[in-house]
This record gives sequence, structure tokens and C-alpha cells, in this order.
Amino acid sequence: MSVTSTRVEGRTRLRELPSVDRLAAAIVDETSPATATSVARAVLAERRRELLAGATDEVDLIDRLRARCAPSLRRVLNATGVLIHTNLGRAPLSAAAVLALTETARGYSNLEFELDSGRRGERAQHVRELLQELTGAQDALVVNNGAAAVLLAVAAVASTERPVIVSRGQLVEIGGGFRIPEVVAQAGAPLIEIGTTNRTRLRDYTAALAKSPDAVLLRVHQSNFRTVGFVEDVGIDSLCALGAVVIDDIGSGALSREVIAFAEEPSASRSVAAGASLVCFSADKLLGGPQAGILVGESGAVAACAQHPLARALRVGRLPLAALAATLALYRDPARAAREIPVLAMLTIDQESLRERADRLAQATGGTVIESSAQVGGGALPLLELTGPVVRLEPSEGNPLALAARLRLGDPPLIPRVADGGVLLDPRTLAEDELEPAAGVVRAAMRDDRTGS
Ligand SMILES: *Cc1c(COP(=O)(O)O)cnc(C)c1O
Repeated sequence: MSVTSTRVEGRTRLRELPSVDRLAAAIVDETSPATATSVARAVLAERRRELLAGATDEVDLIDRLRARCAPSLRRVLNATGVLIHTNLGRAPLSAAAVLALTETARGYSNLEFELDSGRRGERAQHVRELLQELTGAQDALVVNNGAAAVLLAVAAVASTERPVIVSRGQLVEIGGGFRIPEVVAQAGAPLIEIGTTNRTRLRDYTAALAKSPDAVLLRVHQSNFRTVGFVEDVGIDSLCALGAVVIDDIGSGALSREVIAFAEEPSASRSVAAGASLVCFSADKLLGGPQAGILVGESGAVAACAQHPLARALRVGRLPLAALAATLALYRDPARAAREIPVLAMLTIDQESLRERADRLAQATGGTVIESSAQVGGGALPLLELTGPVVRLEPSEGNPLALAARLRLGDPPLIPRVADGGVLLDPRTLAEDELEPAAGVVRAAMRDDRTGS
């Protein structure tokens, strides 16, 4: 079909579109007249654009109306086994964090207000003492996310006259286009690359510092990959002993050293003790809190961050701040943190409990229990395989992708892992009260899968 004939047909069908009022009438019983009109107008405008662009498909405008009325951001059931899944919102929050968040959401708060003096306060005050206590740092600041923390740290301590020294093995991309060389460029500081991709030695740092004695040392954790074999890099203690300002981007904030699986992840307190001026980490990776970025370190360096103009643009909202304070408070008691912070509980759950959950899920869905392994995700512990029992579903006609699609379109949407030609449900990332709804979604999807409806 030529472009012109498509356009002619598009115009013909354009004339067949219903009026806003007629379309709105289809859903007016389910909502208010004003809402129905607003949604109908948007659906018609969208369809008109599609027809003018040459669309020839058949669409059900009423389905589109209903879809637009439903919230776009929804709760989903994560059966992928990936604990920190950025596309699925990273860390689910603890009950304590949810409570703090809803209480703060409902009304006003002393966000930037000192109750005893009646004077203006600062939002960092609500987590400063907790972070000092948990990391040993002199001061702390919270911003919108981990990327913001790194950007602010570099912008606040480096400058056009004060370059940033980074090992070539750490010039990494974190994901979503966050690349260390570009972050340093955004902060306006020259970048001095040292060493090689696989090996950087202390003398590479000392040589660079001899030429630029004022330079800042930036160390970046290889979060989502590892170099293995003929590799060498400089530990945080030796780096801090050089006496320069050190920014340590540890990526995932491992606060609790009590959790065994963390042994390989750098902890914030370790870097603080070594003498790093600023330590940056995410609050919604292994820390298990809301989206936020944390900066801890020496008072002078943290103050420089707080006073930088970017700090206002990158500041944390009151809801994540409330959730973060509640999450951090749980860390005072590591055993309690491991029980109540979902990411930690899922990471450390014992095989027996997993097996029991898998059996229940298999029984309710007609699947079979097999052994399989998943990853932590979120750029943390990339080599750690979380092995355990999962439920394997057998799709009709052996098409796992079709069954996975049906599960995703369930209510609530269920996101499985597709591996080894099968559809797997990993009970590790499903909460206790999600097993029943998950089984319901599977039964409906399997029924449709068999009938092909
Ligand atoms: C994840 C990560 C970041 C970015 O943190 P976000 O919270 O995702 O913005 C920065 N640096 C490292 C090393 C990371 O692992």
C-alpha cells in the first residue's frame, strides 16, 4: 500500500470516530462524567494521531478508555528471584519503613523545622545521628539516589583546578548511561586516568599525585561486573594513606557486616575507618531501603556537599527520607534487620523455608519443584549464585514466552524467570502473602494457555 492510499484510508476512518461524549458515555458509570470526558478526549486524540500517521489496525477504544483509567504504576509479583531488580523498583520496604512513610505522607512533618527552637532546620538531621552511629562517620547527607551522591561529591570537592584521579579499571558504566568519565566531566573537573583496565598499582597513584598534588582520588566499586585473573588494584586503606581527598563510591550500601553474603561487598564503615573523605552509596540496593543516595564522611567534605548549589537540585523527598530513617533504625539490631528488611530476609532465607514455599506454590499451580539459581541484581554481588528450589511450569505447545506474557498480564501481574526452555517461579522474591495471589494468576494463565484464549 502506498503512502497516499494509507493516508486516504486513515482520513476515512477518522470520520468514523465517535464524538467525545459518545465515547465517554461508555465508562461514565465507572467514574465521574468529568473524568470520563477527559479520558475519552485523550483516547480520541491519540487515535486521531495514529490514523493520520497511517495506522490501519483495528482497536477497541473502550478497552483503551479502561486501560487509561487504571493506574499505570502498579504492584507486581516478582518471581524472577532477582532480589534487587531495578526495573521492578528495587528493594521492597520493611513494615517499619512503610509505616513511617505513610504517617509522613498523610500530614505535615518537621522536615526542615526544629521543634525545640521553632527555627528552620535541615532535612539531613533526621538521619544524621543514625548514619554516624552505623558508619562511624563525622557527618552525613542524603540525596535523591546513588548517582546523585557521586555527582554531588565530585562537584563539591573537585573543580576545574582540582582534577580527579581514577584507575582505568574503575572507569565504569553503572547502567542507564551513568558513566564515571561523564560524571567527572559534568562536575567540571579534569580527569586523570591511571593504570590499566586490569592492573593499577599504588605507584600509579603516587606518580599522578606528584604531578597534581591537589587532585582528588575517586574510587569506584565494580558493582555489576568483576575482573578476574591477572588483576591488581589498590585497597581503600593504602589509598587513604596517601593523604589526598578520597571519594569512595561503594555502590551498594552494605551496612550490616553480620550478613554473611556481604563479605565481598565493601561496607561504608570500612571506608570511613580507612579515612575516606566521602563515601557514597545507594539506599535501595543491599541496604534494602527507599530510593536515595547517601553521603557519609568528614564534616568539612559533607558540608561542602550540603552547601553546593547542586544539593538543592538533588535533595531527597520527605517520603523516602522517612522510609530511610526507619530502615536505618532497624540496623541498630542486625538480627532484627536481617529478619525485617525484605532484601536481607530474602538473601539469608534458609533452604528449608524456601523448599516449603516452593512445595506450596507447586501444589497450588500444578508445577514441579526443581533446583535453579538466580542473581542478587542491582549491581551487587554479580558472582553470587542464589541457588534454591523453584517451581517450573510446563507451557502448552512448549512456548514459555507466551505463558510468561500471560502471567505478566495477570492481575496482579506476575513476572517469572524464563530459563532453560521453561517458565520458573522463584519463591525467594515472593513474600509469604504473595504466594496465594501468585498461584491464582498462574491457574488463570495456564487455563488460557491451554484453550489458547
Ligand atoms: C548503583 C551504583 C550507582 C548509582 O546508584 P543509584 O542509586 O542507582 O543511582 C553508583 N555507583 C555505583 C558503584 C553503583 O553500584
